[in-house]
Amino acid sequence: MLNLVLFGPPGAGKGTQSQKLIDKYNLVHLSTGDLLRSEITAGTELGLKAKALMDEGILVPDEVVIGMIDNKLKENKTAGGFIFDGFPRTVPQAEGLDRLMKENGTEITCMIALEVDEEELTKRLLLRGKTSGRPDDQNEDLIRKRVQEYNNKTTPVANYYEKQGKFFAVHGIGEIEEIFDNSCAIIDRHLAKAQ
Ligand code: AMP
Repeated sequence: MLNLVLFGPPGAGKGTQSQKLIDKYNLVHLSTGDLLRSEITAGTELGLKAKALMDEGILVPDEVVIGMIDNKLKENKTAGGFIFDGFPRTVPQAEGLDRLMKENGTEITCMIALEVDEEELTKRLLLRGKTSGRPDDQNEDLIRKRVQEYNNKTTPVANYYEKQGKFFAVHGIGEIEEIFDNSCAIIDRHLAKAQ
């Protein structure tokens, strides 16, 4: 089973690369950002609470996202593997994910971290905001706030996987295909080792 964590700040290209990795390795995509936006669209109580935080560029509580991932893992018992996109974003989330993986008799294979500098991120997100309809992509202050949340709370997650020998950085600026090939090379090395 291949269980990937796709890591990187907002605008690093996680969505684009996820789609390509899902197609190639036949994985189920679990994006906490997408799951939260679905809750908002459905008008649930969870969605309502999450929206207030998301509109400020602040992370929603750990137990909320861990609970959503737990439900999705239970709904996809026969999946050949998962790609976690935008999750885990804090060390307690990473610990929660390890626990859930263990309960499902599996583990995280590796983390692929897309590295992109802040100026490039801001440029990309403002551009995305013109078509995505996402309010959090249309305001430069909010974008900087999200990157700041990432630097403060999410960067330690890389360390968490580094300690387990599962962290791999990929340069996230350049051709989409080249970034994809570099990511696949890391994954294929792991798959070969596992066999
Ligand atoms: P994203 O689509 O991944 O950029 O997420 C958009 C917003 O949803 C973030 O700015 C957070 O407010 C919230 N969010 C998404 N994933 C998580 C997570 N794993 N932990 C906490 N908050 C999250």
